[in-house]
Parts: sequence; C-alpha cells; structure tokens
Amino acid sequence: MIEPEPLVCGIELGGSKCVGSVGTGPDDLRGRITIPTGRDAAATLQRIVAQMLDWQSVHGPIAALGIASFGPVDLSPPSRTYGHITTTPKPGWRFVDVVGTLTRALSVPTRFDTDVNGAAVGEGRWGAARGLEDFAYVTVGTGIGVGLVVNGRPVHGFGHPELGHVRLARDRTDAWPGSCELHGDCVEGLASATAIAARAGVAPDQVPADSEIWHHVAHALAQLLHTLVLATAPRRIILGGGVLQSRPELLVPVRAMLLESLNGYLDLDALVGPIDDYVVTPGLGPLAGPMGALALAVDAHRAHTPPATG
Ligand code: ZN
Repeated sequence: MIEPEPLVCGIELGGSKCVGSVGTGPDDLRGRITIPTGRDAAATLQRIVAQMLDWQSVHGPIAALGIASFGPVDLSPPSRTYGHITTTPKPGWRFVDVVGTLTRALSVPTRFDTDVNGAAVGEGRWGAARGLEDFAYVTVGTGIGVGLVVNGRPVHGFGHPELGHVRLARDRTDAWPGSCELHGDCVEGLASATAIAARAGVAPDQVPADSEIWHHVAHALAQLLHTLVLATAPRRIILGGGVLQSRPELLVPVRAMLLESLNGYLDLDALVGPIDDYVVTPGLGPLAGPMGALALAVDAHRAHTPPATG
C-alpha cells in the first residue's frame, strides 16, 4: 500500500513578508497566508503560530515543519543560538529564536535553513532541478542570495554561503562604485534591485529596457555564475527573484556573458548541455520561496520516518 503524502507546513520568513503554506506539495495546497514581517518579531511569530494551530484544527495533524528564513541565521544544531536569526540589521529581529518559538507550538520534526537554500531544495523537489544532486539557485531581489545544493544537500559550513557578496572582475567600461555598504562593487552592490535603484534613481521596473544599466547588471550576474560554475560544478543554475521576474529577458545576455567569461575553459555544452537549458528560470516561478519552506518540511518528515520495508 502506498502511504499518502503527509500534510506538512512551510514558513518562509522574508525581509518584508512571511508566507505560510500547508499541504502536501504545490499541487495540493490546503492553505496559504501572507503576513507582513513587522518590527515586532514576537507578534509576527505569534500570528504564524495561531495560523498553524488553526490549520491543524481544520485539516488534521501537521507531520512536519519547514522554516526558510532571511539571514544571517544559525544553522548549527549544537550552537546555543541554533534556529535564531542572528546579526541582521533588520530592526526587532536580531537574535530572535525562530525555530524555538515555532516548534514550541507545533512539536513536530522541523528543518530550518536560509530562504535561498529552501528555494533551492524546493526547485530540486518540484521545480527546475528535479532529479539533480548538484545545482544552484540564485535570487536577485532587494539583495542577492545563492542557495547551493551539493551531493543532494544544501551547503552548510560554519554558516551558509553568502555568495551575493562575492567580488567580481568588473566590466572595464563601468566605474560605478556600487551600493553595498561593506564592499561597494560586490555582486549585490552592482546587480541587486537596491543597486539598480541607487544607480538609476528609479525603481528597477521603471528603468528603460535599452538602458546600459542592464548590460552592467547582466555582466555582474554572469561573473557570479562564472564563480559558481568553477566552485561547485552545478549541473544547472536557476536564476530567480524579483528583478528576473520582471525582466526575464536578462537571461539572454547573462548566458552569453557567462560563456564569454569562461572563454572555452570548460566545454559546458558537452558537460551539461545547451546553455539555454543550463541557466534557467525557476520551475516554481514566484512560488519557489514558499514551496521551498514546504520542501524543507517534507525533508524533515522523511528524515524522521524509517523507510518502508517489505
Ligand atoms: Zn557586499
């Protein structure tokens, strides 16, 4: 007999909003809620707790919880601050115990990761990286984040990858100093929505399609991809986030500039196939984040359930 998929709950904590989902997967969502990420962390988390308990009373027991959060976060289980958001500049959220607060309400197997690692796990389970053990998910929004899956697992070291702040070989025609407060012209300082707005003086979706700013943005993203290709040999790279959602045609110059930058060092076509199938948009579209949290819950459940025998 095939066991029915378990009902699980995913909470994506974003810098501006939290999205909670309950269901067994993207094709079987029973509920979804969006809550502003208020300055009062305790009140925001209590609203999430109340919603989870309400879902449980309506839909039955929730088997596992996945939490995908903005960072930095502490992902090391032995650490005193495991499950906390740590040194965020976001007011009200420094050293907030997210996992402790949510699991006190719902005592079930829980998996906690960054929002981008969560989105990567979701793309691996249900989206553009299904069946792949090694891939990267890059989100280009207010900031730039990279979720890295290597050998089937999201990468954790002393923390989590922060490739949005990697330094680049700059476009020689471009001397703009960048907007990152710490590094100036790191990739986030050149290609995030924040950087684009700082440079253009208007929101990214107001920047004309023929503005040379897009050339510089594509160049910076291609440089990030150059680093990713050489560092972990991903079998696919997914480019998502608000900037790409509103301007998906950016993928065209990014792919071309990646090949130009690699300059034939690797034969990507032979190794991973055509570039158009290698650098792609998220299969889950704008749901990559919320479904990522749900995918973490599925992983938490599987890790706590012995495989069926017989
Ligand atoms: Zn930076």
